Amino acid sequence: MINAIHTVTNFAVVYVKDWMARASSLRELEQIAPEDRSRTLRDWNLTSFEFGSAMRHRFASQDLLSCAMRTLDIEQDQFSSEHIAWYRDMQRSCVTCPHRSRCRKELMGSSFASHYQGFCANSANFAEILERS
Ligand code: SF4
Repeated sequence: MINAIHTVTNFAVVYVKDWMARASSLRELEQIAPEDRSRTLRDWNLTSFEFGSAMRHRFASQDLLSCAMRTLDIEQDQFSSEHIAWYRDMQRSCVTCPHRSRCRKELMGSSFASHYQGFCANSANFAEILERS
């Protein structure tokens, strides 16, 4: 019984923290100057509507792409500087990915590397990068 209460409490804490982080990301974007907001969204290749929709996904404000690349031993800095457009496409896929909750869980549980091909929106990209290295 105590374990169940602990699990529910932990879930509530994670849920509230995530909700606050997403709300904060939306607020930050709303508060910057319109031209900076447009530039930021253009860099991410997202419309304002797409960004708002993406922020509804759980853990939308967490940088899961960096974590996934680290887990797969992909040199993120090198890759992002050598393949800017490709990297931005991957960032966009990540931000709009509907599997962020599962992704985070697999990354935290160290099972991402063996399972990501079954659900990750960047699976083909990771495969291609790993094949080239
Ligand atoms: S599953 Fe893949 S695309 Fe989705 S958030 Fe995780 S790393 Fe990004």
